[in-house]
Amino acid sequence: MKWIILFGFVALTVVLPLPDFWIFQLNYIGLYALTCLGLVLLTGITGLTSFGQAAFVGIGAYTTAFLTLNLGISPWMTLGIGLIITALSSIILGLITLRMSGHYLPLATISWGLALYYLMGNLEALGKYDGLLGLKSLAVGEFEIGQGRSFFVLTWIILIASVFCLNNLLDSQVGRAIRSLKSGTQLAEAMGINTFRYKVTVFVLSALLACVSGWLMAHFQRTVNPSAFGLKMGIEYLFMTVVGGVGYVWGALIGAGIIKLLDDQLQVLLPRLIGTSGSYEIIVFGIILVSILKFLPNGLWSLVSRYFPIARRQENWAQADTLPERTMPVKGETVLDVIGITKRFGGLLAVNEVNFQIQAGQIVGLIGPNGAGKSTTFNLITGLLPPSSGEVRFRGELISGHSSREISLKGVARTFQHVKMIPDMTVLENVALGAYARGYSSVFSAMMRLNLSQEQSLFKEAQRQIERIGIRHCMHELAGNLAMGQQRLMEIARALCADPSLLLLDEPAAGLRHKEKIALASVLRQISSEGVSILLVEHDMDLVMEVCENLVVMEFGNLLIQGSPREIQESPLVRAAYLGTEH
Ligand code: ADP
Ligand code: MG
Repeated sequence: MKWIILFGFVALTVVLPLPDFWIFQLNYIGLYALTCLGLVLLTGITGLTSFGQAAFVGIGAYTTAFLTLNLGISPWMTLGIGLIITALSSIILGLITLRMSGHYLPLATISWGLALYYLMGNLEALGKYDGLLGLKSLAVGEFEIGQGRSFFVLTWIILIASVFCLNNLLDSQVGRAIRSLKSGTQLAEAMGINTFRYKVTVFVLSALLACVSGWLMAHFQRTVNPSAFGLKMGIEYLFMTVVGGVGYVWGALIGAGIIKLLDDQLQVLLPRLIGTSGSYEIIVFGIILVSILKFLPNGLWSLVSRYFPIARRQENWAQADTLPERTMPVKGETVLDVIGITKRFGGLLAVNEVNFQIQAGQIVGLIGPNGAGKSTTFNLITGLLPPSSGEVRFRGELISGHSSREISLKGVARTFQHVKMIPDMTVLENVALGAYARGYSSVFSAMMRLNLSQEQSLFKEAQRQIERIGIRHCMHELAGNLAMGQQRLMEIARALCADPSLLLLDEPAAGLRHKEKIALASVLRQISSEGVSILLVEHDMDLVMEVCENLVVMEFGNLLIQGSPREIQESPLVRAAYLGTEH
């Protein structure tokens, strides 16, 4: 509904008595906002900082300028060609640069920004630094779109449609996978998400938005030259986005608007105030921008968004189809076979020749003092770390050496000792992410909202696991607002969403109250009765002794002893090494 109003509003502008000057300004704002929208997705949401976005605007602009001027191709055709060229070049650039981390990626974007600028400026065919002149306005048949109201309607409809698609995308399983990338790749890969592919996808999407902006801009200005697409402009796009609110889709519009207006107003106002002309506006501009960032680090939209409370998700999935389920191992099947795994960190032998097995439906406790190597063993089993030697077999299949994503897809789910989650997503959304591999939809269907029935199935499953684990009351809260114990329970629900046959829990009871621990114990028993095997690292001995059928005790990386809880409790070895220090 709100989208219809927005589109209506844009269309209305044609008849509204807005001065031409404002329409002209709004046209520029729309053009800039398109590029900034891509930056919100790339930088704010995915966490990949780019200074080189203007280069893709340049590709869109030069493609249409060159082809319409030299070959007489219709601009509507050149848009498609520009998009193809942008997609190909951004895929190539992305494949090369997106594996870089830390400061290297922004540096790489600076270098391609510079490279494309000099390329545009030095090619004879592109008119060198003078650029290409005399482009035609866009036209539909005889009707010329020009630079005024018609252009405004075209640009802003494209812009609002892009916002619409992006919002849909972000509010989908694919979008949640994209949003998980910002907090590192470990969580996402453990959910079976191909993080690199999504980084490239996001990179291409943002480049395509920039390309559309460039195509529009070329026919709006009717000339193109390299200065509009250089590094300086790349920095300015990033600036607009950050000022508007780099984490918010609507921030792109606010940022582009504020910067464009400030820029213009200062150029008019300052000479009047100071009485001389000079480049003072740049200084004042800088001061204003720095203050905005100082007092509103999340940008201007963060101020506005306070007045728009997040609508609570409607629970409309009761009738949805259930997700496909894995065939569980049969009783007696060896689910996990750890054979002599060893892990060295430099000189430290964190895990040394450890052997143990887990049968279908068994709950095995992995215990030992801090630093014994329990979490490292988890990481070796789940593929987060490669073993130095030894092997891990899951349902008979060799899994050591495989990536954590491949292992998770086979049916091994885990929680982390240090909770990993997306704090600004609700519990429901975080948990649904666990079912990622069970309900995939494409980026396109997410943008077009063709994935509704699938989304409902995912939420239905997420709710089922949330209820099972006993945190129904905080299903719609932001995960970041939960107490530590609840966050751990949320992680278990998320792991269960993956429909695992082996579940690895790293200190799930830490931070839980007594009652919650009792509830957790009964959930674990119920899960195992359904055939799921569990490997449990836990310091709460009452819980461990109560639920585990078998215990594996580690000390200084070595397997000290394994046996039933009773055998372990009676073992003098264990008393000395572990319980002895506690009791
Ligand atoms: P636990 O979970 O049993 O408390 P860990 O598996 O976390 O123990 O750690 C075992 C040992 O390995 C510790 O001495 C720890 O300092 C070391 N260790 C763990 N991870 C790393 C790493 N990534 N690099 C170097 N040393 C590590
Ligand atoms: Mg640990």
